[in-house]
Amino acid sequence: MPPKIAAGNWKMNGTQSALDELDTLAGILPKDGVEVVICPPATLLVPAAARGSAIAIGAQDCHAAEKGAHTGDISAAMVADTGAAYVILGHSERRDAHGETDADVNAKMHAAWAAGLTAILCLGESEADRDAGRTLDVVGAQLAGSLPQGATPDNTVLAYEPIWAIGTGKVPTQEQIVDVHDFLRAQLVDRLGAQSGNAIALLYGGSVKGDNAATIFEAQNVNGALVGGASLKAADFAPIVSALAAS
Ligand code: PEP
Repeated sequence: MPPKIAAGNWKMNGTQSALDELDTLAGILPKDGVEVVICPPATLLVPAAARGSAIAIGAQDCHAAEKGAHTGDISAAMVADTGAAYVILGHSERRDAHGETDADVNAKMHAAWAAGLTAILCLGESEADRDAGRTLDVVGAQLAGSLPQGATPDNTVLAYEPIWAIGTGKVPTQEQIVDVHDFLRAQLVDRLGAQSGNAIALLYGGSVKGDNAATIFEAQNVNGALVGGASLKAADFAPIVSALAAS
């Protein structure tokens, strides 16, 4: 069985005072059987990890290179050095605003694994792809291009995030979510064999809130969520974690 994971992506939100939300969340959690991960901005990785709570900490990106002349970037080893255990890779906002290709993401996956991090690899179609009936082709191609050989349930989590559902309040139908997650599960089993392929956690991301989480988690191949806006406040994120624990 894959682990249940509730991951929060704070994106470019939060200064030191936001750590109060982390402390509040840590006071409400843990919930049995759920791994909770918060991915704050890079500036907060060190103090967040130093809290030493049951909440795991992740970065939102890393560079593919070990070190060197990459102004403004941080390496996977630097992320690990903060005490973080996870890194989000291939988020659609980075694919879009920073022109990251599947090959770029693939290289970052290697770097993350080499540093001992668990990568949360994001995949998802645009609204135009969805409307044109290309969702599975697009997501399948992203998986093939950005997931290197060597993925295991310990070093990889997949997050299916339809771009049109991110931050919009639009959520796919349950059938649409099930279709993509079942497809991704089948692809993983095909590539990695049943044991590993069935044990990698598949998260859904895109406008997950306290009031829709329980329904989303009913799907067999939805093992958790990657949450943006609703992860910023402990009071909004905790009900999502509780819904996952109860699923
Ligand atoms: C995200 O950006 O990964 C995300 C899922 O955002 P939101 O929950 O705000 O839609």
